[in-house]
Amino acid sequence: MSMKIALVGIGKIARDQHVPSIAASPDWELAATVSRHGGIDGVEAFTDLDTLLERRPDIEIISLCLPPVPRFAYAAAALKAGRHVMLEKPPGATLSECQALKAMARDAGVSIYATWHSREAAQVSAAKAWLRDKRLRALTVTWKEDVRRWHPGQEWIWRAGGLGVFDPGINALSIVTEILPDPVHLTAATLEFPENRETPIAASLTFAHPHGAEMSAVFDWRQDGDQIWTIEAVTGAGTLLLADGGARLAIDGAMQAETDADGNPLQGEYPRLYANMADLVRKGGIDMDLSPMTHVADAFLLGRRVTVEPFNE
Ligand code: NAP
Repeated sequence: MSMKIALVGIGKIARDQHVPSIAASPDWELAATVSRHGGIDGVEAFTDLDTLLERRPDIEIISLCLPPVPRFAYAAAALKAGRHVMLEKPPGATLSECQALKAMARDAGVSIYATWHSREAAQVSAAKAWLRDKRLRALTVTWKEDVRRWHPGQEWIWRAGGLGVFDPGINALSIVTEILPDPVHLTAATLEFPENRETPIAASLTFAHPHGAEMSAVFDWRQDGDQIWTIEAVTGAGTLLLADGGARLAIDGAMQAETDADGNPLQGEYPRLYANMADLVRKGGIDMDLSPMTHVADAFLLGRRVTVEPFNE
């Protein structure tokens, strides 16, 4: 039987991924939206969450597609009203508010799911399986994309709490923390802030690995031409390359499986997130892994700040 779900924040990711993924799944019925500006044709529309929570007790699951800074108040209201909550990435603006949400969900006996869509990319689980018994020597993350192409007109990404280049960079970190068998920690970072913005446009990170493997990541939002989302892992038994944000996998240069990629870099990820959420609600449970966000927080704590030329769209 399908479960009734409401989407909150009808912006780019809600329209591009959440609405079609819900529509394509027998698990879900999109029963309402909450949006200050619009809605989805044929779906009951509310302009504030409190009214929806009061008038639609039949809607048990609230999926939040807002930017991170306003998300906590919405999540807290939904949990207090006894609803299950699904969070876009990153799950909040601070680690402590995410911990607070987790505690609220536990106290209310409902599910909360901090989604990491890049972990659902087609080849991430195969990469994890391959790396499980290998000795890592080096890992290099390269995440370079054109912010004008992927975030046109999005002012919130440039304001404090919007994460800047860590908005895509946290996707890479969500994959790294999923595929590596060992935990790592950040040892150094350089963050480049445009002089007219509150968040970084580029960052380079270095990590310590428990067996001494060299680990680094470079994130850059100023990429012209080809967009690069790769993770290369050199091991004692060969080199793994995860490309296209986890959609393609090569071992020692040999492609492991052809994907049905159609140019959509997120293909398949959101249907899998919604399948996970359905499972979590049915079984009862909490899935709130904050490790990708911990590395981002560490980069902001430890990182050297450099001012670079202004960014104008
Ligand atoms: P967006 O289009 O700029 O904003 C999403 C919606 O959130 C807005 O349309 C607005 O909805 C609502 N909103 C914005 N500011 C608000 C505020 N201060 N208070 C209440 N509601 C507010 O952003 P997006 O690209 O969809 O990203 C949203 C989240 O999804 C982010 O955390 C992002 O990291 C994640 N994400 C984005 C992408 C992508 O490709 N864009 C991919 C994966 C994940 P209403 O006008 O309906 O109120």
